[in-house]
Amino acid sequence: MLNLRIRSIASTAAIALALCAGLSGCDKETASDDNHTASSDSVIREQQRYLSENYAAFRKRQIDNIVYHFAIDLTEREQFHGIATIDFDLIKQGDDVSLDFYAGEINTITVNGTPLASTYEKWFINLPAANFKLGRNTVVVDYRRPYVTDGAGLNQYQDPESGNYYLYTQFEPYEANKFAPVFDQPNLKAETSFTVTAPKDWSVITTTRETKIENLPEARRWHFPTSAKLPTYVFSLHAGPYAVWEDDYPLVPLRLFARREIANQIDPTYWFQVTRDSFAFFNAYYDFPYPFQKYDQLIVPNFNFGAMENVGAVTFSEERFGSDADPSPQDKFRLASVIAHEMAHMWFGNVVTMNWWNGLWLNESFATLMANKAMEANPQYGDAALAFLSFKNRGYYADQLVTTHPIDMAVSHPGEVFGLIDEISYAKGAAVLKQLSHLAGNEKFREAIAYYIAKNQYSNTQLTDFTGAIAEKTGLDMSTWTVQWLYTPGVNTIEASFECEGGKLVSLNLLQTAPPQWPQLRTQKVQLGLFNTQASGTLKLSQTLPVVYEGASTPVDLAAEPAGCPDFVYPNYEEWGYVKLALDEISMATLMQTGIGGFSDEHMRSAIWQILGDMVNSLRLPLTDYVNFIVANLPAETSVDNLTFLMEPATHAFNDLEAMPPSDASRAALAALETVAWSQFNTAPEDSLRRRALFELVTVTTHTSERLDALKNLIAARPPARGALTVQWLRWQAIQQLSRYDVKGYQALIDTELERDTSETGRQASLLARAIAPTKSAKKPWVDALLDPDSAVTLSEMRAVWENLYPGKQRAMLAETGPDILAALPAISEQREAIFLSKLAEKFIPVGCRSSSVNALENAIQNKSEYAPAVVRALRIRHQEDARCVAKTALVPAA
Ligand SMILES: [Zn+2]
Repeated sequence: MLNLRIRSIASTAAIALALCAGLSGCDKETASDDNHTASSDSVIREQQRYLSENYAAFRKRQIDNIVYHFAIDLTEREQFHGIATIDFDLIKQGDDVSLDFYAGEINTITVNGTPLASTYEKWFINLPAANFKLGRNTVVVDYRRPYVTDGAGLNQYQDPESGNYYLYTQFEPYEANKFAPVFDQPNLKAETSFTVTAPKDWSVITTTRETKIENLPEARRWHFPTSAKLPTYVFSLHAGPYAVWEDDYPLVPLRLFARREIANQIDPTYWFQVTRDSFAFFNAYYDFPYPFQKYDQLIVPNFNFGAMENVGAVTFSEERFGSDADPSPQDKFRLASVIAHEMAHMWFGNVVTMNWWNGLWLNESFATLMANKAMEANPQYGDAALAFLSFKNRGYYADQLVTTHPIDMAVSHPGEVFGLIDEISYAKGAAVLKQLSHLAGNEKFREAIAYYIAKNQYSNTQLTDFTGAIAEKTGLDMSTWTVQWLYTPGVNTIEASFECEGGKLVSLNLLQTAPPQWPQLRTQKVQLGLFNTQASGTLKLSQTLPVVYEGASTPVDLAAEPAGCPDFVYPNYEEWGYVKLALDEISMATLMQTGIGGFSDEHMRSAIWQILGDMVNSLRLPLTDYVNFIVANLPAETSVDNLTFLMEPATHAFNDLEAMPPSDASRAALAALETVAWSQFNTAPEDSLRRRALFELVTVTTHTSERLDALKNLIAARPPARGALTVQWLRWQAIQQLSRYDVKGYQALIDTELERDTSETGRQASLLARAIAPTKSAKKPWVDALLDPDSAVTLSEMRAVWENLYPGKQRAMLAETGPDILAALPAISEQREAIFLSKLAEKFIPVGCRSSSVNALENAIQNKSEYAPAVVRALRIRHQEDARCVAKTALVPAA
């Protein structure tokens, strides 16, 4: 699965779990023999939403060789009908058998041909032991179930304009049981086949390709052959009147699907090109040809993640990849990376699968690293190194939050998985694997991976299978590595310390520190880059020194040829290591003198931007100084990639400055940021990518009345403008900015824009454009929808609006509604589904950048036993960020 962008992902677990918050203690091992035939290691399952690790481990000892056949009828719109036929071997007798099935309705159940009376409640179907025999058994369940609209299960979406329905499934981590009764755990892999009845003009897509389509009087029936042995979370079923494009990679038929309504915005040539190039890379890297018969990719609406690696039928978010008719090179690179990420999972995850959800990080970190390697091998798609650098920075950020955690964590039930779909599992994990690859040697690392895949194909693995394969093929000591990197959270900082004599470098030490709460020091291999100032004033790389550092201080072996005294030392050149950097005094002074323009290498400039951003978060640099550095150095930043990466910190800086109690220094910094955005935008060539990137900065920093009017004129211009002004999402962002400051006429602009953009993304952007206005009446429907568990507002709409409902100085408006939201947290925790909380909690927790708002959050945290885990996590993160905002305020000069 992939989450793109950092749309703060909160952890979660369902509400029902609050009753069973004690993690793995919910199912009880029965040592005594209450159940007359139950054996000593039996586990009795309790009524609760999620499957416990304990029960799953027991069921793994009970059941084997599963084959599912699903006969599904999709012709009704209120609910669907299914007949699940489940064949399996019972390998341990004497215990009840349970099938996971959430909130459906059972018509009939038969076990080995005998009808059973159902005692089904809500979470799973329990079948008494007496009905089963050792060896082969067959259970048939005839059931109905409503579709879901929150993207977790079999989701149904209706296009508001055409009325067409589109269905897709999303089953990770534990949602297949919202589709059919199944053994929903990753180590009970099964062969699966489908028969699907659907309206006549629909396509039906699943793991395998149909062998027959039967014409019925009112519908068509699709027959699909049996799949390879797969875990339930990567089964899938998608259906609807999708548009389709076809191509092939030698021996692998390729298809791409998207809703008809957005078909004209899709560039199938690009999708297929990336898909073919990725296949070529992975077939070679894994040394194991793609093992499934076909590869379909679908772009689906209201999807909660970036994409999902269903075997042979990958789903992608329409919001992120389907509705931009004019993607920038950065957008296209992001899409290519995601295509490659999902494909990497076909082997690592789908052929070889984690035994349990604690292995999720390895699955995701590995796919993330592999996607980057695939992009590195195909530089025509963009700069993979630059993307990795920015991505890794998200890992550093997450690792400094109060919610950081070891990469490898125990998971007591799948509801906790949402909490692990974070930047520790993706960004940090990938960076840590990348440095392992440098430590092992890239080719040796690849050989170890190929060996691991071949050895464990179609089965399940533990971490030790992975580390064992690396140790066996590379000779590395993986036990110390595992403790340092996987079992201990936190990020270290390194700094170079050096002395020169007579213009020559005579000693160089690498100093390592750790944050007090995570004092672990680590070992890894990095490269030092030594730079010298040229006559032109720019910096030139004069030497690189690889070093494996450990402990608090590591002397660096200077080459036999003593180097000249450096003016600037970069301790993680080419970004081999996962470690934060502190620049030594000399290097910092050099940087302040040369500015960003001193480096001709855009990777170095990107690294500098990130070091400064981190210094602001670490309270080592006043926010106003940082903004003034951006203002002074933006003109010298010639890389559009870097400008694009800079948008997020610049937007944060703008919003924090605006949220603070105003001072002369903060007002001046805000005005300077707006001015540089406009002056750079105005001087960039009209159709250039630079102008487009700068227009984004204009849309998030414009706040003075004169420039708001100028922005309004740009958007309203007739005839329509060119270049940057035609990019649809940027136009919406501009209109949102006008609404945010209540610029006269913004409503008319929204109405006009909705005529121009009839897409779902456009409709959602218009919701935010209305909601972001600085009035109570604009906010009220969204606060009401949050507090009303029966609200008809969809999760996708809620996410679109809450993403930015109270920006910048509007945080002050939360003084009124904030207490209501905090008071409702226990009820919200109880009434909302896990997916809702995991996607939304961090957005609706109120922050105000005032000591009063920090105190309110602190008080709320005191009641944490009343909240779902996702809400607790969101509260802790928002509290930390709000307190940091207050601390940043204290650093801003008062006058
Ligand atoms: Zn993934």
